[in-house]
Amino acid sequence: MTVASRIAIDGPAASGKSTIGKMVAECLGYLYFDTGVMYRAVTWASLERGIPISDEVAVTRLAQELHIDVTRPTVADRRQYTVLVDGVDVTWEIRRPEVDAAVSPVSAYPGVRAALTAQQRRIGAAGRVVMVGRDIGTVVMPDADLKVYLDAAVAERARRRYCEIIARGEPATYEDVLRGMEERDAIDSSRATAPLCAAPDAVVLDTTRLSIEGVVQVVMRLVNQAQEK
Ligand code: C5P
Repeated sequence: MTVASRIAIDGPAASGKSTIGKMVAECLGYLYFDTGVMYRAVTWASLERGIPISDEVAVTRLAQELHIDVTRPTVADRRQYTVLVDGVDVTWEIRRPEVDAAVSPVSAYPGVRAALTAQQRRIGAAGRVVMVGRDIGTVVMPDADLKVYLDAAVAERARRRYCEIIARGEPATYEDVLRGMEERDAIDSSRATAPLCAAPDAVVLDTTRLSIEGVVQVVMRLVNQAQEK
C-alpha cells in the first residue's frame, strides 16, 4: 500500500495549519506549500504600488501578472520559507498588520482566486505535497488523498497569533489581534467564491486543547491509513 501523496490541510487563521503542515511534510519528505502566502503577496504588492484594495480590476490584473516564488529559507531567521515577489524578498513584509487587514477582501475577488488557484493546482498535481490554506480540500485539490480541517476556539487562535507577533518583537494588543481575526474569519467564511469550510470528506480536528506533537501524531496516523487514490 502506498501512503497518501497529496495532503490538504485547511482551517481558519492560527488553527495550527502552518506548524502542523510543515512538520508533517518534513516527516514525509514532501513539499510544504502554504497557499496563504500567495494571497498575502498580492495584497502586499497592491499596497506597495498604491493600488486601492477596492479596485477589483486592478488587483486582479496584478494577481495575474505578479511573479510569486516560494523557496527554501534563504536566511536563518526562523522563517519557514522565503517568499519572493518579482525577485524581492517579502517573507516578513507579508505578515505585517496592514496586509492582515486587507488580505481577506483581496482573497474574495474571483479573478484573484482563479489566477492563484491555477498555480496551486499545478504544484498539487506533481504530488508528494502538503498544501495548506482555506479551500485546498474543496477547490484546489478536491481529489486529495487526505483532507484535514483544523479548527480551534477563536480566543485560543488569537492568543497564539498574539504570542507569535510579540515573539517577533512587534507591537500588538490581544484585543486588536482578536478583533482582526474575527473580521478575517467572517469575510473568509462568507465570500461567494471558495469560502472557508471543511470538505464533506475532511477529517475535522479541534486543536484548542491539543499539543502540536499530538496533532502531528494524529495526522501522521491518518496519512498512513489513507491509501493513495
Ligand atoms: O493562512 P493565512 O492566514 O496566511 O492566509 C491569509 C488569507 O489568505 C486568509 O485570511 C484568506 O483570506 C486567504 N486565503 C484564501 N485561500 C487560501 C489561503 C489563504 O482565501 N487557500
